[in-house]
Amino acid sequence: MKKVYFETYGCQMNKYDSELVAGILKSSGYEETHEAAESDLILINTCSVREHAETRVFGRLDALRALKSQRPELIIGVLGCMAVRLKETISERKPFVNFTVGPDNYRALPEILSKLGRNGSDGSLSLADVDNYEVYGELFPAHSDGVSAWVAVMRGCNNFCSYCIVPYVRGRERSRRISDIINEVKKLAALNYREIILLGQNVNSYQDGGADFADLIRKVADVDGIERVRFATSHPKDLSIKLIKAIAEHPIICKHIHLPVQSGSDKILKQMNRNYSRRHYLELVQTIREQISDVGLYTDIIVGFPGENEHDYQNTVDLVKNVEFDGSFIFKYSPREGTAATKFTETVSETEKVERLKNLNKIQDQITLKRNLALIGKTVTILVEGPSKKAKPNQYMGRTETNKIVVFNSQKPPKNGFVDVTIIDAKSHTLFGSLVHNKN
Ligand code: SF4
Repeated sequence: MKKVYFETYGCQMNKYDSELVAGILKSSGYEETHEAAESDLILINTCSVREHAETRVFGRLDALRALKSQRPELIIGVLGCMAVRLKETISERKPFVNFTVGPDNYRALPEILSKLGRNGSDGSLSLADVDNYEVYGELFPAHSDGVSAWVAVMRGCNNFCSYCIVPYVRGRERSRRISDIINEVKKLAALNYREIILLGQNVNSYQDGGADFADLIRKVADVDGIERVRFATSHPKDLSIKLIKAIAEHPIICKHIHLPVQSGSDKILKQMNRNYSRRHYLELVQTIREQISDVGLYTDIIVGFPGENEHDYQNTVDLVKNVEFDGSFIFKYSPREGTAATKFTETVSETEKVERLKNLNKIQDQITLKRNLALIGKTVTILVEGPSKKAKPNQYMGRTETNKIVVFNSQKPPKNGFVDVTIIDAKSHTLFGSLVHNKN
């Protein structure tokens, strides 16, 4: 078999797509390697959401050129959003890249590779058309090893938030059929995956016939062998009471919601084209907390959006303090060419953006720590993912159903599965637990 090496940048959808491509290439005689130096094919799956991610990819391609100079037969391909947005730039600036293929064109990869095989690798091929019907419905990705698997339920987005490139590079919103999703989940259960994470840019818009996302998630949670189901990401304008009730009622659906707020200022939310108000968001949070006890609530925030003055920023700070999220992913605004927001005049200096970012991160860290400290003494069930990242001997890590990371000691490696731990210490990013008993 030939060897393919992947490098994946950006969001979870891209990671899922790399698994999807690995599945497609398996049937064309490629197996995955984790060593670029021993590969026949290098695929860089790219992200266009932030300029920084694109710059990193260009730098990385320069580094890979050395491998190609040593082995001219090595094939290098660029996948993902940059293949759509920057295909001409890639072919001009990096002529050694053999092909660029966009997120909706992965079925064509075997054909592209066989063309390159026939014609030699002397020219660059590009196939990066947005296809508003492609959902890769029946395909089974080569999921990475572990206890959790991501499963895409829809692709694309119709929301056109003014700062976001996704609708332009990933096309309009379309849903995969329930039957295809359930088939994938059943296969994953048979392969001993315990947790399924349903994935879409806005899962709340999911539709298959008369079924919506709340119907879908209940069906996934009912698959034998699956013991946890979670999802990402929700749009505050679309998160339904029906879905909140499904999370509250079904024991397999995790009490964990990622609900990007982006700003606490109505003026900025309008500029961002988010289509909800601060008040709507706060009422939604109240409903969620009333219906789902001990829910883990996470958000995304952008600071320094064009027009964000000190008052707008303080509204965001106030919202963060008011809601007390379990965690926030906070970014400073950077314009993406091709989005509506590039027409807005930037009013916040880079220094001020950095200051707002640092300050808000500090506030969120204090809140997260407070919420984590409140868990000390409680016993929680965690799904063990493996050795802890810092890899101290006999130390393992897993996640609570609210998506908090817990590190604990165990003499024997726990079989991948569930254990109960009592929380004995807490930092802002990690909880520390003492093993109660192994559920396996
Ligand atoms: S909901 Fe907005 S931010 Fe999210 S993918 Fe769609 S356009 Fe982008």
